[in-house]
Amino acid sequence: MSVLVVGSIALDTVKTPVAEKADLLGGSASYAAVAASFFSSVNLVGVVGEDFPAEHVEFFGSKGVNLDGLEQVEGKTFRWSGEYLQDMNTRETRNLELNVFEHFEPKLPPHYRTSPITLLANIAPSLQSHVLDQSDSSGFVIADTMDLWISIAREDLLALCKRLDLLILNDGEARLLTGKDNLIVAGREILTYGPKYVIIKKGEHGSMLFGDEHFFICGAYPIDSLLDPTGAGDCYVGALAGYLSAHGGEVTTAGLRKAIAYGAVVASYNVEDFSLERLRSLQRSDIDERYNHLISISQIDLS
Ligand code: AMP
Repeated sequence: MSVLVVGSIALDTVKTPVAEKADLLGGSASYAAVAASFFSSVNLVGVVGEDFPAEHVEFFGSKGVNLDGLEQVEGKTFRWSGEYLQDMNTRETRNLELNVFEHFEPKLPPHYRTSPITLLANIAPSLQSHVLDQSDSSGFVIADTMDLWISIAREDLLALCKRLDLLILNDGEARLLTGKDNLIVAGREILTYGPKYVIIKKGEHGSMLFGDEHFFICGAYPIDSLLDPTGAGDCYVGALAGYLSAHGGEVTTAGLRKAIAYGAVVASYNVEDFSLERLRSLQRSDIDERYNHLISISQIDLS
């Protein structure tokens, strides 16, 4: 079974308190697709320009990512530049160049249209909806978003919410979307916008799953070697989607809990290096090791 991943493919410049690196492989779909590939086959949809290095395309291929939906067109690849403050939690976007993304209309090859799991990684909500318009799947649809779209494309995002099984966003975005400071209130309110489930991520403090009759809290995997937080959220949702796809696409709350823990684990590896570097050498056995550890440090002995 394959997971469909649509989102941005970027060349990023990232500055952290320890280093600045330019022209790195980035983008929501890049992180999400590679994270998902540890669990499931992946069908990627995205656009890059003529300047996109062939080695990155080869890297996607080496992870078994199907690239029939990757367009390479005239012009420059989408570029994003961000800077992290000392605490590595606060990020400022320094520059954003849409380039080939400006006229991008995601096109689903026919064999991508019936995915049991669709992951709409972070892009404009109108483009995310455009993907759903082409998909004849009755599968499980997940969308990620960001503060930018909540601010400038709120109506599009609210329209998308009605078509979603799961919306995932971070704490600041949940507050921005709902106007509620309390995250429990915010999570419950977002459920009324349409999605069956909502996940609110809280960075190093883990994440919360909300469903009509369901609530779950998962810690973040504790690490002491954070180098670059970029893509943590995309890896989280990519691994989550990949895990659900590998388990038949039939989504249960028990399955979602496991998928969330796998998301936390893959995100924890990704932030140990810049760009997708840590994912290059990562093995499924490494992921399972941290997954088992995360479970063991989260359990309470009831005896
Ligand atoms: P994350 O750290 O999980 O929020 O994801 C960071 C990635 O999102 C970077 O690699 C950027 O290239 C990408 N990104 C930043 N802004 C946007 C945007 N407006 N639309 C799509 N992708 C973006």
